[in-house]
Amino acid sequence: MDANEKVAYLKGLMDGLKLGDDNDTAKVLRAIIDVLGDFADDIDELSELYDDLADQVDEIDQDLSIVEDDLYDEDDDIELDEFDEDAEYYEVKCPKCGDDICVSEDVLLDGGVDCPNCGEKLEFDFSTLTENSINAKNED
Ligand SMILES: [Zn+2]
Repeated sequence: MDANEKVAYLKGLMDGLKLGDDNDTAKVLRAIIDVLGDFADDIDELSELYDDLADQVDEIDQDLSIVEDDLYDEDDDIELDEFDEDAEYYEVKCPKCGDDICVSEDVLLDGGVDCPNCGEKLEFDFSTLTENSINAKNED
């Protein structure tokens, strides 16, 4: 029995009392049953809205799962292929030995790296940074 059916049942019980239209007690009871009827209608309406909302959340959840799967796939690709064309690499010339060093964007953002050839500590000068080249400056 839903809320509206319970209210209808109460109305039936009250009619069964045969109190008559002019009876004060009957007026109060009718007013109370009217209010309960309004509540029951509101609850029905909210239940429908809630069901719709729950369905939409389910759909969003499923869509999100698809997006998450895509994202994880993308991560796997980057791990499998270190030299992914999307990955940013920069060529740096060591000022001491003249060796060309390939550094990733992460290393670049750290601000420095040791030359793998001569061990010179290279610091990067971001003021001269261009698309695919960067000047390494000597510490001295
Ligand atoms: Zn070097």
